[in-house]
Amino acid sequence: MTSMPDYVEFDPDGDVVLLLRNRDSNKGQDKDNTDSEGTSGAEVPADVDGDAQPDGIQMRVSSSHLALASSIFKRLLKGGFAESLSLNSTGTAEVRLPEDNPQALQILLNIIHGHVKKVPRAMGIGMLTHIAILIDKYCLHEVTEIFTDMWFKKLKGDIPGSFAKDLMSWLCVTWVLRKSKAFKDTTKIAMRESEGHLEGTTERDLPIPASILDSLEKARQGALSECCDTIRTIQVAYVQPEMQCTYPNCDAMALGGLIKALTSQGLQPLPRPPFTGLSFKWLASNFKKMSLPTLCGVNGHFRTHYYTEDFENSHSHAECGIKRTIIDRLSLIEQGLQGLELEG
Ligand SMILES: [Zn+2]
Repeated sequence: MTSMPDYVEFDPDGDVVLLLRNRDSNKGQDKDNTDSEGTSGAEVPADVDGDAQPDGIQMRVSSSHLALASSIFKRLLKGGFAESLSLNSTGTAEVRLPEDNPQALQILLNIIHGHVKKVPRAMGIGMLTHIAILIDKYCLHEVTEIFTDMWFKKLKGDIPGSFAKDLMSWLCVTWVLRKSKAFKDTTKIAMRESEGHLEGTTERDLPIPASILDSLEKARQGALSECCDTIRTIQVAYVQPEMQCTYPNCDAMALGGLIKALTSQGLQPLPRPPFTGLSFKWLASNFKKMSLPTLCGVNGHFRTHYYTEDFENSHSHAECGIKRTIIDRLSLIEQGLQGLELEG
């Protein structure tokens, strides 16, 4: 990442100065591999007036460009706030934006002011996340769409295939940029592979609605409950006096084998909500790889018993299909975890 100058001019006649905090000294938590070519605005020595902090960055911008591009800036600069009063009375205003990422804002301001040659053609998911945060904050979806489409298209191949450290960044970017297919894929991974509520799992405050994170957590817990219920249902059926398998003593062998297998995996007693630290993927794979001996020698290879709602009352199968029952049921639960749709 190139370091930011103290002063960036987007419009030499600009009537507004944005004051940002320089984050170069921050610990680099993001891999912002922005194309360095032409990302900066026109740079001049930092001897302009104003009271920027020693480590601050000033950006001279045009209020009319900001107001046209962003309804949020329009309200700030034209709507009766201190900044708009200053703009009216003195012709200039300062706006403090200590939370905003300077590099990301610089890219957006170049778009807003028409300096498109200075806008990078590609960037990493780290920088695109910073940009998405600001697009959401200032309602810049429309004015940036051509660029965000281009950036996202080039990044698409990097979408993680399984739970990764930057999954929350992908969730944020696909949500803010309304990329429905990628959003669905990302949320599918979260449902299947997250180990708890995703709220607060990143250092940054990402603009992902709490309702989305709640839905993902509900799906995770729901699937884990169903997994455990599958095992419980089998245990209940095999404890009953009615024979599940007609082969002598096979029920006892099957039940004992199941309990032993669960115990050896630390899953006896079965986990309970909220299943903290457990993912569906982990639990399902552990259930699937359990070795379940039977006396009849049938370990789910034929005479499959398919799970039905009235499994407890169904004794139609003559041999053990215990393993097959578990595998089939887990596959069904997994198929239910398909990610979220973007509405609208
Ligand atoms: Zn049997």
